[in-house]
Amino acid sequence: MSLLPVDAAVARIAASAMPLAEELIPLDEALGRTLAAPLAATRMQPPFPASAMDGYAVHAADTEHPPAELKVIGVAAAGHGFKGTVGRGQAVRLSTGAPMPEGTDAVLIKENAETPDDDTVIAREPATAGGHIRQPGLDFREGEVLLAAGRRLGIREITLAAAMNHATVPVRRRPKVAIISTGDELVRPGKVPGPDQIVASNDLGLAAFVRLNGGEPHDLGIVIDDQEAIGEAIDAALAIPANILITLGGASVGDHDLVQAALLDKGMTLDFWRIAMRPGKPLMFGRFHRTLVLGLPGNPVSSIVCALLFLRPLIASLLGAPQVDPSEPALLGGDLKENDDRQDYLRATLEPGDFGLPIATAMSPQDSSGLAILAGADCLIIRPPHAPPAKAGEACRIIRLRAVLE
Ligand code: AMP
Ligand code: MG
Repeated sequence: MSLLPVDAAVARIAASAMPLAEELIPLDEALGRTLAAPLAATRMQPPFPASAMDGYAVHAADTEHPPAELKVIGVAAAGHGFKGTVGRGQAVRLSTGAPMPEGTDAVLIKENAETPDDDTVIAREPATAGGHIRQPGLDFREGEVLLAAGRRLGIREITLAAAMNHATVPVRRRPKVAIISTGDELVRPGKVPGPDQIVASNDLGLAAFVRLNGGEPHDLGIVIDDQEAIGEAIDAALAIPANILITLGGASVGDHDLVQAALLDKGMTLDFWRIAMRPGKPLMFGRFHRTLVLGLPGNPVSSIVCALLFLRPLIASLLGAPQVDPSEPALLGGDLKENDDRQDYLRATLEPGDFGLPIATAMSPQDSSGLAILAGADCLIIRPPHAPPAKAGEACRIIRLRAVLE
């Protein structure tokens, strides 16, 4: 099997999943969830003409020639409108959010008002008709669809949904993502590694990645390099049942890389398993009846880069969310050599540059196990296959890590 280009792999992965079922949840639990249906306003906002300032509701014409003395005949506050009608030469004291009293067309703001006694106000400046008044429907009208299906619910969306008077929202179920780490050399963080062992880091990062992207991680722990043991972990993932099974490590062709063999033995249909990229060549994709399988390389940097390139669009498909290309233009901060047949993702720093484009400078070393370098990087520079040598100042594309990993 030849190496599959990254874009083709992303397209195949994204197209392989259908949106999950929807569920209705309380709005106060909806942060980070994805709307399953469009959300329309159930009411108009504001529902009545409302004062945008503290002051006095007046007839603009009465204040045309200041100073102008007006009789204060009542009070309107937010939640408590003035019931009567305001005649010429009269005013009603207002607080922000109060309905404009019948008959008035202007707000004399407090700053321009003088109050010799409780019953009198003197306009020091003219009040403009319609000024400082929020007209009905200024924000939105009943029936307007303001949030589309597939929209992720952040703080703005939740606040808007509340204003539209939705106490519950229809969202996609969270994809259940089982994570299996493989390797005799791995121990959990907090344990003392044996002489030939290292601390497993990938599964914790992956679980956090799943959560950040709206999924529900199920960490099935570390499994030794033994096909039977791996098979048992696969059974556990299928029993959940997981929508996605992620395996970490054991995905290349070494003697101990038994993951693919175990998956095939359990009945997985293999789609592809090698990608023309660096880091992360031994990426595998396949499926069981209802569980999609993403086999990620064991090297920590590879697994994170592969997660953001492939797991992100897969979860987006399951959530019915739009596919968003996370890349953007930048300029190179240093020269780069000609590239081979694999698409490179170079860890790089970013600094502000001229022409509105940031400058991306590759770091060193670019080892696929180097988590410290990854933590210090601001972005990944994308180097297409067979890219010719490039000079500092030339255009490139980058993925900002903050945008996809935090
Ligand atoms: P593998 O894909 O199993 O050949 O693993 C490639 C490299 O990644 C090896 O150096 C492994 O020790 C390392 N590795 C595999 N899984 C993990 C993990 N969960 N955490 C940290 N390193 C890992
Ligand atoms: Mg291994």
